[in-house]
Amino acid sequence: MTFYVQAPIFVFREFMRHRMASYNEESGRYRELNPVFYVPAATRNLQQVGKPGAYDFLPGTPEQSELVRAETERTSREAYAAYKRMLDAGVAREVARIVLPLNIYSSMYVTVNARSLMNFLSLRTKREGTHFPSFPQREIEMCAEKMEDLWAELMPLTYAAFGTNGRVAP
Ligand SMILES: Cc1cc2nc3c(=O)[nH]c(=O)nc-3n(C[C@H](O)[C@H](O)[C@H](O)COP(=O)(O)OP(=O)(O)OC[C@H]3O[C@@H](n4cnc5c(N)ncnc54)[C@H](O)[C@@H]3O)c2cc1C
Repeated sequence: MTFYVQAPIFVFREFMRHRMASYNEESGRYRELNPVFYVPAATRNLQQVGKPGAYDFLPGTPEQSELVRAETERTSREAYAAYKRMLDAGVAREVARIVLPLNIYSSMYVTVNARSLMNFLSLRTKREGTHFPSFPQREIEMCAEKMEDLWAELMPLTYAAFGTNGRVAP
């Protein structure tokens, strides 16, 4: 299966730890990157509680949500303006891009077989009652959920077996 994924670079960094997929990502060397940045929604939980490896996340205060929104937008705009200034001065894209933050969007094709996708889903989604609970970052989990929905339509029998097996790859 091949999925087309658009996500911020901090999500791609987590994706690419999954070696059993192959990745084909857009180039920041051969074309100018668009000013598309991830800004967490006000509903994004902000407070980390619990122990390492099994953190839970609770809603932030309205002040924290506003601070995250404002600071993320401000730094994204400033970084992109610096990127553009360098491009306008004739600096190569591969050099100018080094000032861009991890929340800028990229895109890629991810090709993966069903067994490796199951391994990915069991690690990058958090579900009650799974045999091996995982505690992924919410943003990669959002991608994983969309991939899971597509896969469930494509391979309903295999998908059902995955659930019966406690969401563990065979
Ligand atoms: C909640 C969470 C937190 C994480 N935190 C961190 C962190 O703080 N720091 C960090 O560095 N990483 C972190 N990771 C990444 C994690 O360590 C794995 O790299 C990632 O989940 C990929 O898992 P994988 O190796 O099973 O997947 P894949 O690379 O897709 O491999 C799938 C399976 O194939 C086999 N396999 C693949 N390649 C080889 C090989 N070369 N030799 C032998 N067997 C192979 C293994 O059985 C492996 O389980 C985290 C992951 C999760 C889910």
